[in-house]
Amino acid sequence: MGASWQVEVDELLGEGKTVVEKTAIEKLSKDYYWYSPLLQAKLKDKVAEGAVRIRTEADLKQTLAYAYANRIPVTPRGGGTGNYGQAVPLNGGIVLDLTGYNEILEIGDGYARCQAGVKLGALEKAARLTGQELRIYPSTIMIATIGGFIGGGSGGIGSITYGGLWDGNVLELVVYTMEEEPRRLVIRGEELNDYIHGYGTTGILAEVVIPLAPAKEWQEAIGQFERLEDAMRFSNRVADDPALTKRVISLHEWPLPSYFAPLAKHIQQGKVAVLLEVEKGSLDTLRQYASEEGGEIGYTKDDSHTRKGVSLTDFTFNHTTLWALKADDNYTYLQCRFSLTDYEREIALVKEKFGDEVLMHMEWMKVEGGTAPANLPLFKFTTEERLYEIVDFLEAIGVPVNNPHTWKLSAKSSTYEGMVARKRVNDPLNLLNPGKLYADHE
Ligand SMILES: Cc1cc2nc3c(=O)[nH]c(=O)nc-3n(C[C@H](O)[C@H](O)[C@H](O)COP(=O)(O)OP(=O)(O)OC[C@H]3O[C@@H](n4cnc5c(N)ncnc54)[C@H](O)[C@@H]3O)c2cc1C
Repeated sequence: MGASWQVEVDELLGEGKTVVEKTAIEKLSKDYYWYSPLLQAKLKDKVAEGAVRIRTEADLKQTLAYAYANRIPVTPRGGGTGNYGQAVPLNGGIVLDLTGYNEILEIGDGYARCQAGVKLGALEKAARLTGQELRIYPSTIMIATIGGFIGGGSGGIGSITYGGLWDGNVLELVVYTMEEEPRRLVIRGEELNDYIHGYGTTGILAEVVIPLAPAKEWQEAIGQFERLEDAMRFSNRVADDPALTKRVISLHEWPLPSYFAPLAKHIQQGKVAVLLEVEKGSLDTLRQYASEEGGEIGYTKDDSHTRKGVSLTDFTFNHTTLWALKADDNYTYLQCRFSLTDYEREIALVKEKFGDEVLMHMEWMKVEGGTAPANLPLFKFTTEERLYEIVDFLEAIGVPVNNPHTWKLSAKSSTYEGMVARKRVNDPLNLLNPGKLYADHE
């Protein structure tokens, strides 16, 4: 990238949008890749050569045209909370900081249209003012952007009812391509799969339309169980009961709950904890199910939708890993999907093989055909060989692993082929976040 890039981009966009200060660029070049000890070593020195703070659609289009003309790689970035180095530029170039491109354009009946840099927390707040709320959001709601969630996330709070990003939770995307004259595409239907969780490799999301749900009053509760099996049965009953409206069912094997420092006085020593967010009025049923499965409901909190004070969702999904890392930075994790019908047996096999080395952290999700736990098991990192022994064992017993220790999009994903084809059309010079699709090298 030539030394004159800043002057040239300033001329195009007006002053004040380019970033050349080294520390700021370094910061904009990192996400939460350090969750993985393998990625930490490989990505720590990767840094962009410059950054552009996008404020308008014209800024976006002109920056892409400039980058194409000068063959400069471009990496889009929202809140920078991705866990796999998705937003880390592997080949220098420009980072597009989209957090300033953040207008909520419309909140209609059942949907919201907004610019990609809108923070999910702000969107939830605005939606609630209209009697609506987000259907799904990551536990990083206060930092993550809607564009970053769609570009690099998968699901989260609400996924027990509404599934993941691919399950009708994105209605429309406005996308810019990386060509001499960047095209503005309006994407709907099946084609959305070419962009969801695509790390910005197939196009830059400018606007998004997502569905909203009618707002509910939520409350939180912690179920405590001596035995993992009982906690799983309880969680599954809550998940499968259509009369219970829920946003989160999150199970944590001991000692994981001991790392949730702000919850210390509500956590029972040695017990499996199930963190729940359910519609107000559900506590009697939760208490009944917990006692029938050999546990109890301890801590409860009303009005969790106001997000005042400590929220149990701050300990779910990949926040669990963060609390464990704060307590002991040797912890690391995997992401895997146990079978819908056979997960109890599969988990028993894992516990038999690895005992307390591999600790269960499960998040119940709506999946095709019912509900099932997504599993983000934690363990202390020793060597890469040991990490892959655990992966190999899981795969050998039929549990697919979404490896969080790579920055590459998985070729096993059902949307992979579509993305590769789309990239060839939308980004013929492979300038969009290069190195993240395997096909980059072809
Ligand atoms: C503590 C913690 C908890 C988490 N919990 C969850 C969770 O519950 N669920 C979940 O799914 N994930 C979770 N994550 C991962 C991450 O938070 C989510 O993926 C989040 O939604 C990312 O949003 P972001 O704005 O930070 O995106 P970024 O990290 O900035 O970007 C994510 C990816 O999208 C690309 N991108 C960003 N903006 C655009 C755009 N406008 N157009 C095209 N591509 C773009 C980036 O290049 C990158 O590849 C968690 C991470 C942490 C650290």
